[in-house]
Amino acid sequence: MPPTGSTKHVTSSPVRDLLALTSRPEVISFAGGLPAPELFDLTGLRMAFHQALSEPAGRDNLQYAPTEGNRALRSLVAARMTGKGLPTTGDDLLITTGSQQALTLVTSALLGPGAVVAVEEPTYLAALQCFRMAGARVVAVASDEHGMVPESLEEVIKAERPSLVYLVPTFANPTGRTLPAERRTAIAALAAAHDLWVVEDDPYGELRYRGEPIAPLAVGSDHVLHLGSFSKIGAPGLRLGWLRAPESLLRTLVIVKQAADLHTSTIDQAAAAIYLAAADLDAHIAGLRTAYRSRRDAMIAALPSTTPPGTTWTDPDGGMFVWVTLPEGANTTGALPTALAHDVAYVPGAPFYATTPDQATLRLSFTTNTPARITEGMARLAEALGGDRSVR
Ligand code: PMP
Repeated sequence: MPPTGSTKHVTSSPVRDLLALTSRPEVISFAGGLPAPELFDLTGLRMAFHQALSEPAGRDNLQYAPTEGNRALRSLVAARMTGKGLPTTGDDLLITTGSQQALTLVTSALLGPGAVVAVEEPTYLAALQCFRMAGARVVAVASDEHGMVPESLEEVIKAERPSLVYLVPTFANPTGRTLPAERRTAIAALAAAHDLWVVEDDPYGELRYRGEPIAPLAVGSDHVLHLGSFSKIGAPGLRLGWLRAPESLLRTLVIVKQAADLHTSTIDQAAAAIYLAAADLDAHIAGLRTAYRSRRDAMIAALPSTTPPGTTWTDPDGGMFVWVTLPEGANTTGALPTALAHDVAYVPGAPFYATTPDQATLRLSFTTNTPARITEGMARLAEALGGDRSVR
């Protein structure tokens, strides 16, 4: 029987489908948005899980638990957020099964069929999937090299009456762009003036390789929902994220989560709480920054000799991605089989668009390869792009 209900709008994520093709060991993949596995703190996490599964608390850590999440973990995450300039208490937080679940919960709580969501374009494609699955209508707000343009958002608010604005303001997926402080203030002010919610999806904010941190949109605003994740600073297999929301909405979100999965894995939360209390996460993140910075630099250095004249790209201050725009007329979806034949992979840009895709765009992830592999992969990409008629 064909699927009914909201899943009839669902297609598989093209990135996931692509990852299947790039698993051949000879392929140098710039496709997946994965953290580098060799940099996971296996020793620290093993010790945390060992302790979480030992007496005295081991049995409780295997039991059902409150939907809001592990109290110690919430306090530790809140203290980190406060330390980074976003005053937060454990009571402001709901622990989620990755920030992807936070997106689902927010969607269920706030978006009925026909609701309108405003997004920057291009944007995180699994967020687009999530909104569409709920039957919401996604409208694009004009964006430039600094991210969403507040004046355009104001026009979209007046014309389309969205109930939600979705943003990845810091080191965005897929562009790597960061929204400047003035625009953050302007967007938060628009949300307050028009009484709508902003989702600030922030899994990459701590992965900064240059420049100074910028205050989150959620600072001082009761219209911003802030989503954090352990995936890029810890390990994504833990499936741990958190959602910071004003009390009234948090209560609703707790009920929605209860209906979805009762609570996030008790043992994983307990291990994360032990890890955060015992390990020096800031030192670990400093190590990630050093490694990823040199990987980003290798990719940026290779781009001029990789791409045809007239190509532009972002030079991100942090995160995982470089966004490339080939000259007009290029088709990166059409060119992908040629790239794969050269044992190199990227993600075509089209699926990241909510409206009309720019077929000349592609996303490169620099995190999972060493600088030497990046240089080799970019040389392969240069050959693929040079030999493929769809990009000339
Ligand atoms: N939001 C953005 C912008 C992402 O890039 C990702 C992961 N690729 C997620 C949310 C989901 O992350 P997780 O569920 O692992 O926390």
